[in-house]
Amino acid sequence: LRHRYLDLRRERMNSNLRLRAQTIQAARRFLEDQGFIEVETPVLTRSTPEGARDYLVPSRVCGGEWFALPQSPQLFKQLLMVGGIERYYQVARCFRDEDLRADRQPEFTQLDMEMSFMGQEQILELNEALIASIWKAVKGVELPRPFPRLTWHEAMERYGSDKPDLRFGLELKEVGPLFRQSGFRVFQEAESVKALALPKALSRKEVAELEEVAKRHKAQGLAWARVEEGGFSGGVAKFLEPVREALLQATEARPGDTLLFVAGPRKVAATALGAVRLRAADLLGLKREGFRFLWVVDFPLLEWDEEEEAWTYMHHPFTSPHPEDLPLLEKDPGRVRALAYDLVLNGVEVGGGSIRIHDPRLQARVFRLLGIGEEEQREKFGFFLEALEYGAPPHGGIAWGLDRLLALMTGSPSIREVIAFPKNKEGKDPLTGAPSPVPEEQLRELGLMVVRP
Ligand code: ASP
Repeated sequence: LRHRYLDLRRERMNSNLRLRAQTIQAARRFLEDQGFIEVETPVLTRSTPEGARDYLVPSRVCGGEWFALPQSPQLFKQLLMVGGIERYYQVARCFRDEDLRADRQPEFTQLDMEMSFMGQEQILELNEALIASIWKAVKGVELPRPFPRLTWHEAMERYGSDKPDLRFGLELKEVGPLFRQSGFRVFQEAESVKALALPKALSRKEVAELEEVAKRHKAQGLAWARVEEGGFSGGVAKFLEPVREALLQATEARPGDTLLFVAGPRKVAATALGAVRLRAADLLGLKREGFRFLWVVDFPLLEWDEEEEAWTYMHHPFTSPHPEDLPLLEKDPGRVRALAYDLVLNGVEVGGGSIRIHDPRLQARVFRLLGIGEEEQREKFGFFLEALEYGAPPHGGIAWGLDRLLALMTGSPSIREVIAFPKNKEGKDPLTGAPSPVPEEQLRELGLMVVRP
């Protein structure tokens, strides 16, 4: 990255940037044909909550006050709907101060959209058509449509993930009920027991490796047994014998397979075995090829934050609850579904959106549920609630993580490969040396003093 301009001379980087430009061009063409107009929204603005830390910019003119860089154009695109721009899009730069990973940069690009008078169904259809038109234009490939859909609940139950990789099978099965009377305490008393049948007699070393993965995802352990002709062997074999027939039927396991189990709270059992499923695919050398898109829908509206001991939003606080679940909002918040959807490709979340709340009273109710009191509502989102009072059309939208999508399109291991001048793993730019100290003089002008950690 220090001499990135030389790296850009390579065929790989050169063609990645070309493909990026073609993709954006194809998206623009499609959206313009559909009557969307591109609108630029401010970069110096107020905080837009998307669950990350803000980057702040000090104001010289209003000493002691700060702009935040947008985590997304969320509030502005909703204000555009109030302003009668019925179909908006933008290739938008977003900023989130989070720890870096291969698929995260402090600044990244969204293909951002918002539409009035469209329901979830129409938004998903339009986005499928958009993806398909890009694949056709850029890769010359006809994608099979419609994309499969899973509810969040199904995705968690069957794959232990809200972004399942559908390029291979290996589905998880719930076998908890089989062990209710079994006398096998660990399984009997667990809220959930998830099972996975792998078509291979795993060695102890392989099992140990998978157990590591399970433990990293909060599982107490990974129980296992080999399936033999007429019985089980190894691991917890003797505890499985009493329910042999039912277990084989539930897991579709055959002689020669290895059965793996995680028992525990529902979410832990699913996510831990879901992570094992991914690693197992590598162990088995399963081919992961092609582009498998899917929609995950019906996300829960809220999530319980153990540390804060409070409900927090799963998507963002402007997401509409599922109308059928409105009566549960105060009674049983954890069971309320949202009109929220994610676009998933090959096990990676490449887009997410929702139908929004357009009624200020419901918005205030959801804020209350999130523990955002009247004063805080007024202080942080007063301008937005006021806008809703003027009458907002029903609306919804979505944003794609363009860099992630391009990384998958080009088979790149990191989104750095599809960004001309990315930051390194420490969040720095070795080419320009940013971030860097600034002269005292500049700080004084801003009324700032640096306290070194
Ligand atoms: N603003 C959302 C995000 O950045 C996307 C959306 O809801 O349209 O994830």
